[in-house]
Amino acid sequence: MNPNYGKVYLVGAGPGDPELLTRKAVKILRKAEVVLYDDLVASRILRMCRKKTELIYVGKRLGQHSCQQAEINRKIADMALQYQVVVRLKGGDPSVFGRVGEEVESLLTLGIECEIVAGITTASGAVANLGFPLTHRDYSKEILYLSGHGKNGKNSESFKNLSCEGKTLVVYMGLNSLEEIVDDLISCGNSETVPVAIIENATLESQRMITGTLGDIQWIAKEKEVRSPALLIIGNIVHFYSEMDSLRSLIHRPYSLS
Ligand code: SAH
Repeated sequence: MNPNYGKVYLVGAGPGDPELLTRKAVKILRKAEVVLYDDLVASRILRMCRKKTELIYVGKRLGQHSCQQAEINRKIADMALQYQVVVRLKGGDPSVFGRVGEEVESLLTLGIECEIVAGITTASGAVANLGFPLTHRDYSKEILYLSGHGKNGKNSESFKNLSCEGKTLVVYMGLNSLEEIVDDLISCGNSETVPVAIIENATLESQRMITGTLGDIQWIAKEKEVRSPALLIIGNIVHFYSEMDSLRSLIHRPYSLS
């Protein structure tokens, strides 16, 4: 390792609710000298850092998506020259559509020590919060994590030949290509009645879930003005959610934990 550099922690911030941070993440955030964070990191999480910690925004709003990753890599390395404890804070789990691979590669190439700290990915946080699972022996035996857009901003090819049968499809970054995604899934033989849920602002106070089917979800999403960040869940597990929701509404709760 190059002794001129500090150590970089690539830390998962979870889906939004600060209580879903790992203890390890909190410990590292409290000793961070500088934190480079992106769009999906809640401000309540940043407030856990010490007052003197330098907070640097490196999210999408800074500019063009494609050239941005190289700039971020450079910025992290610059910070590691100045500080001993550098945190690169990413939404959810850094290893799920978080481009952590590019960052690790760029750091190791320069001889900079780094460590990935896992976070709760949005899918796990979102469904737990809503009280349903991603797999269930009677509804879905497999989970597929998919991205709604491919490299260089192109739409993903992943949906062109994909059966939803017996699976839970979890689509990250899928809202902008919702129309293409449902068209592709229907064109390759999936029924228009396959249930779909969209979860907006998962685990935050503003969380909202809307449900529909492959046949109507795009119209429902427009009508309800669903905004990013949002996660799509496609498959029969959404039926299970509806069944549990009906049962839940029958239960009288005398007290709650919170
Ligand atoms: N590493 C992240 C995913 C990054 S990709 C993770 O593990 O969760 C960014 C996408 O994640 C968003 O476009 C959206 O689809 C999803 N996402 C992140 N935070 C979200 C939230 N609070 N609510 C709903 N979707 C979210």
